[in-house]
Amino acid sequence: MKKVNLTCIECPIGCDITVEIDGEKVLSVQGNACQRGKLYVSNEVVCPVRVLTTTVKTQNGKMLPVKSNKPIKKADIFVAMEKINGVVAKTPIKIGERVIADIFDGVDIIACADVE
Ligand code: SF4
Repeated sequence: MKKVNLTCIECPIGCDITVEIDGEKVLSVQGNACQRGKLYVSNEVVCPVRVLTTTVKTQNGKMLPVKSNKPIKKADIFVAMEKINGVVAKTPIKIGERVIADIFDGVDIIACADVE
């Protein structure tokens, strides 16, 4: 059994949460003020994920801010960045448009800004 201390990042309160785990099994969660925190730390100790935010080159030389439309496993972020770094987005592009389809298991990379 192992204890892990984490700060919840699901809201600005930032509760300090202690999780007891046995392998990948969560035995207890303490310090969370709500169920979102329990879900966050339970996922974080077993399979941490993040929404990926970065930039992509565009045809006109400007950088386009982008993000994944769903969280990606932290372990896959390096591979995702290699794929993203090889892309040059066509312009014009509008916020919310898909820049890269299905980078991982149905996860798309979408534009976070308009670029002419
Ligand atoms: S446990 Fe709930 S209240 Fe505490 S930081 Fe996480 S989301 Fe916010």
